[in-house]
Amino acid sequence: MAKIIRPQRASASSVQFAPKKKAANAAKPLPKRAAEKAAKKPAKQVAKTIAKKIAKPKPWTAAEVYEVFDRFRKANPEPRGELEHLNPYTLLVAVVLSAQATDAGVNKATRPLFEIADTPEKMLELGEEKVREYIKTIGLYRNKAKNVIALSKKLIAEFGSEVPRTRAEIESLPGAGRKTANVVLNMAFGEHTMAVDTHVFRVGNRTGLAPGKTPLEVELGLEKVIPTEFMLHAHHWLILHGRYTCLARGPRCEVCLINDLCRWPEKTV
Ligand code: SF4
Repeated sequence: MAKIIRPQRASASSVQFAPKKKAANAAKPLPKRAAEKAAKKPAKQVAKTIAKKIAKPKPWTAAEVYEVFDRFRKANPEPRGELEHLNPYTLLVAVVLSAQATDAGVNKATRPLFEIADTPEKMLELGEEKVREYIKTIGLYRNKAKNVIALSKKLIAEFGSEVPRTRAEIESLPGAGRKTANVVLNMAFGEHTMAVDTHVFRVGNRTGLAPGKTPLEVELGLEKVIPTEFMLHAHHWLILHGRYTCLARGPRCEVCLINDLCRWPEKTV
């Protein structure tokens, strides 16, 4: 018996959505090179768009940045730094000791130290060897003890035993860099500075608020976008956000206050 061959039907979807012109041209096959080009183009375009989106997240609007800091403020109106100190001098010493160390580790060492040495004079009297003993649980303690004694001497000799109020002067002290100056100017003297530590650096980059390859780039970027009314506390909000929510490994995006605004392509919500 002869086999019945039925003509193949186009699927409903192809009939429904194919533009008339294309359907008419469908009978004429494209030359090989043109067909290859046409097939490759969309994939390339898609890849380019994705790469662009990742490298260049959608810029923040001023209203969005305001919203972020407004939420931080509502959640924690008076954020506090976690480095324990008694006065600008002990704050300066604590920040110098905190390089590559945790605040908790520094506090454990400085609590008994500051009880007996809360001024440059008392620290000098104690001497480098004893300072070393107090801080020996902190990384790089030998060098840090040397710096604490040297900066105390300089404060007495050049600044009347007071912590100076300018960035250049603070940065001239042994062991004190830009981050130290920014923390001291902000916490001791209420200046609108932005100290960029590892947490602020990460949050600035991940959120897309202030992407930068160096702490200085992130610092300047943040200063540019954060409204003045938030600058006094912005540094603490960002540190605390990085320390407790936007963790280096395993950020807690599901409980993050700003997860709807964050630009990080790998956020988990
Ligand atoms: S959504 Fe996730 S990645 Fe973005 S800021 Fe929040 S915790 Fe960090």
